[in-house]
Amino acid sequence: MKKLSFVAIALIVSVSVFSCQSSNKKENQKTTETSALQQKVNQYATVKLTTDLSQLTNNQKKMIPLLIKAAKVMDTLYWYQTYGDWDSLLGSLSDSTVIKYVKINVGPWDRLDEDNPFVKGVGEKPLGANFYPKDMTKEEFESADISNKTGLYNFIRRDSAGELYALPYNVKFKSSLKTAAKYLKDAAQYAETSGLEKYLNLRAKALLTDDFYDSDIAWLDMRDNTIGIVIGSIETYEDQLFGYKTSYEAYVLIKNKDWSKKLAKYAAYLPELQEGLPVPEKYKKETPGTDADLNVYDVLYYGGFANAGAKTIAINLPNSEKIQMEKGSRRLQLRNVMKAKFDKILVPIADILITPKQRKYIDFDAFFNNTMFHEVAHGLGIKNTLNGKGTVRKALKEYASALEEGKADVLGLYMIEQLLNKDVLQGDIKNFYTTFIASIFRSVRFGAGDAHGIANMVRFNYFKEQDAFTRLDDGTYKVNFDKMQDAVKSLSHLILTLQGNGDYAGVAKLVKEKGKIGPPLQKDLNRLEKANIPVDIIFEQGADVLELK
Ligand code: ZN
Repeated sequence: MKKLSFVAIALIVSVSVFSCQSSNKKENQKTTETSALQQKVNQYATVKLTTDLSQLTNNQKKMIPLLIKAAKVMDTLYWYQTYGDWDSLLGSLSDSTVIKYVKINVGPWDRLDEDNPFVKGVGEKPLGANFYPKDMTKEEFESADISNKTGLYNFIRRDSAGELYALPYNVKFKSSLKTAAKYLKDAAQYAETSGLEKYLNLRAKALLTDDFYDSDIAWLDMRDNTIGIVIGSIETYEDQLFGYKTSYEAYVLIKNKDWSKKLAKYAAYLPELQEGLPVPEKYKKETPGTDADLNVYDVLYYGGFANAGAKTIAINLPNSEKIQMEKGSRRLQLRNVMKAKFDKILVPIADILITPKQRKYIDFDAFFNNTMFHEVAHGLGIKNTLNGKGTVRKALKEYASALEEGKADVLGLYMIEQLLNKDVLQGDIKNFYTTFIASIFRSVRFGAGDAHGIANMVRFNYFKEQDAFTRLDDGTYKVNFDKMQDAVKSLSHLILTLQGNGDYAGVAKLVKEKGKIGPPLQKDLNRLEKANIPVDIIFEQGADVLELK
């Protein structure tokens, strides 16, 4: 019965498409475009953002909807920062698929496709988003005499005489920020610890003044709370013109205390692991800090910049170098979102690209640990070159980020090997290796546009050369466990010495030779696309979804 009706529907559809083709060429063209856009929407799997709420107290249940309300204000502020007149953009659109994709991208430019426009007539995305006047050139900005022009918390605008000036966020957004601050203060009344209460009140004040220092310090001091929120104007990625202006965003969080305890235990091994790095003594003489504040959270709401396009699964804050020097930083691992990406993306990828015999090694704990140790491993190695070229970052210029991400990936795996040997970490190395290789396929799909993408391609090609995996005739990949360990060791050695020597030419050569997707890999990635494996996720989220009033 079901089958029959499916056939009937298929017939009706094909007939109507046919009549459409013959009678109205324009209409047909629209259908094709829409289905291409539907495919773009399909790149994102929808996930309900939630966690075990039965653990919450009544006060916590009252607090979360208030925090979500504050986070939603960040949505509206970010929409303005990235696009401008958001309502008129949405009002000009009628196709529900287009509207959906505009909302996913927070604008008419495709974040998974190098910001190319997908709405007719909008033109290219301005590099400076809506932070600067659209007609302003870099030269004009650089020669302009504006106070605080490189400030993190202002727009650059033109006055009636055409002169550039800085408009502080707290002025432009005064009434919205007041609303958000009020929600934070109301939430503070339900705070379960004095640390959280203090942080929420200081953060409310910070939103109104654009001065986040005191609240950042209070955030780092706050240790024993279960509920948390990251909120404010924070990252500068959206400003691709200069990288000065920050974007509003928010994460409403619940701490996973069991996992957090485990991570604290692993971080204590950093100095010991630093000593064991597979490089000569001089490349490991810096001492990593052991007070890495690493915690695991489930997220209940992504707001503003955090919710645009691909979703992050780890945060490291605050960004202020002054505070980092004084107090360090905090790393947050977002576990329910990692789990969603694992289920919706990594497992389906492995089902296509990993040899059937090894699919049993694809494992969420391994995926979680690989990601988490990546973060810890940023603390290993050295920050300064050994030959007077200054910091590694300065010496390696535009390649610095890609090499640093590559280092963290491979040293994360090295840490796992070591901690398994020491019996500190439990599990089978085969799970970690196989899940690691499958993760490379997931990451390279983001392309060469970002540091992680380049790092993954370099590693993929390096491991291939070292026989750490083999592509079988059936188009699947087999991990060669015995060769993996050597490959991890030699790649660690290569990256750490390139960093220590500040060897810009050497890194440029490595990226040029290995930082690209060869034809066989591209063919395999195309198979993932044909199989409609999502690239990233979007959320059903909010107080309604959580059934919290
Ligand atoms: Zn990283």
